[in-house]
Amino acid sequence: MAAEKVDPAIRDGCKELVFDSSQLQELSKRFLADVHKGLKKQTHPSSIVKCFVTYVQDLPNGSEKGKFLALDLGGTNFRVLLIELSKDHFEMRSKIYAIPQHIMLGSGEQLFDHIADCLAQFMKQEQVMSETLPLGFTFSFPLTQKGLTKGYLERWTKGFNCSNCVGNDVVQLLKDAIARRGDVKIKVCAILNDTTGTLMSCAWKNPYCRIGLIVGTGSNACYVEKQKNAELFDDADKGSGNVLINLEWGAFGDDGSLDFIRTDYDRDVDTNSVNPGRQLHEKMISGMYMGEITRLALEKFTKQGLLFGGKGSEALFTRGKFYTKYVSEIEGDPPGTITSCKDILVEELDIPHATDQDCHNVRYVCECVSRRAADLVSSGIATLLNKINEPRVTVAIDGSVYRYHPHFHNLMMERISTMINPGINFDLMLSEDGSGRGAALVAAVASRIEQQQQK
Ligand code: BGC
Ligand code: MG
Repeated sequence: MAAEKVDPAIRDGCKELVFDSSQLQELSKRFLADVHKGLKKQTHPSSIVKCFVTYVQDLPNGSEKGKFLALDLGGTNFRVLLIELSKDHFEMRSKIYAIPQHIMLGSGEQLFDHIADCLAQFMKQEQVMSETLPLGFTFSFPLTQKGLTKGYLERWTKGFNCSNCVGNDVVQLLKDAIARRGDVKIKVCAILNDTTGTLMSCAWKNPYCRIGLIVGTGSNACYVEKQKNAELFDDADKGSGNVLINLEWGAFGDDGSLDFIRTDYDRDVDTNSVNPGRQLHEKMISGMYMGEITRLALEKFTKQGLLFGGKGSEALFTRGKFYTKYVSEIEGDPPGTITSCKDILVEELDIPHATDQDCHNVRYVCECVSRRAADLVSSGIATLLNKINEPRVTVAIDGSVYRYHPHFHNLMMERISTMINPGINFDLMLSEDGSGRGAALVAAVASRIEQQQQK
């Protein structure tokens, strides 16, 4: 950060966005306590960080093969994929389909009919209509799982809010929609979270992978836990092995435990969301909200006369008009420079009177907001690394913020290093296409185990 170019009043106004080490320690302590609550049978029902058991127990070993379909719902795009796995090799074809907002906020039936329709179109295009392919469904919302192919929706997040879905088995909703059409056949082999897919996709090649992380439209993590610690894991062959836990850390703070660091911007973003009071940790981190948090800060500073000579623009004062990608673009310029910032302010936000000083100030606000997000994520990851306590762990990561923000990776490397116990080494690895390849791998591992058991 080139803080020397920033107005002292702006720096001062941004102080509430910057954590000191005692706040980070406190954060880590509270998070760990919540993870323990989520894992324990007695405290699980009232826990905030749910620690859902995924029923994914075996990591891939590189020998998985076959042809699979996958669905990916809950990120920036909805996609249908066709995947072919062979030893050490992987081919994929996919297509993005739009989910219009009236469907995101419509009935569950409409949503699943739309998904089935896209699936049928894709299968037709790929000429696999007559085959019954195994399908992995990457469904990136909180699910209470009762097995690899049964998942009851706990709540919607990230702008989705379809009626008649919460409490229902999402696999059944998909099967019902496919049955209503009657023209395609599928075999759903697994329903999984995107964090699970991300971890699996990385574990295919990397034996140290123990954590999957998403910093995208939403945020969440999963990790490898011992079965004996996962008290809600009630599988018949529960034993000395491991099981993946979907933390659903987006909900951390929903009981007030983040109030000591939340700001007016966070409260504003929350109040104006489709799920007020929910996913408070996610709302301080993820791509769906980062731009708006920044805009709210810029709006406040403008109204205080600290930016743009006190004169904003309609765009600057309109909800949702400062996109998260602007934060990445502005911070993508060399430190202390403001070329993109100027362009965005003038061209996109209609503030031709922005001075160089304004641009340095705006850049600083972006840096504070994105660093705060990276700190929150890092504190959670460091807590998990300390809990797992293995000498070497790889964290598999995906999501638009991690992928496109120019410094997120480095910020995380630095912050995690300051928070982990001595003797622990870690890498952060971009996981290529967890939702697709990961879904196929979960489906493949499941069918491998099934075949072994039949022998
Ligand atoms: C969902 C998680 C998901 C995360 C990232 C959150 O809103 O609750 O299930 O993993 O977003 O997509
Ligand atoms: Mg995704």
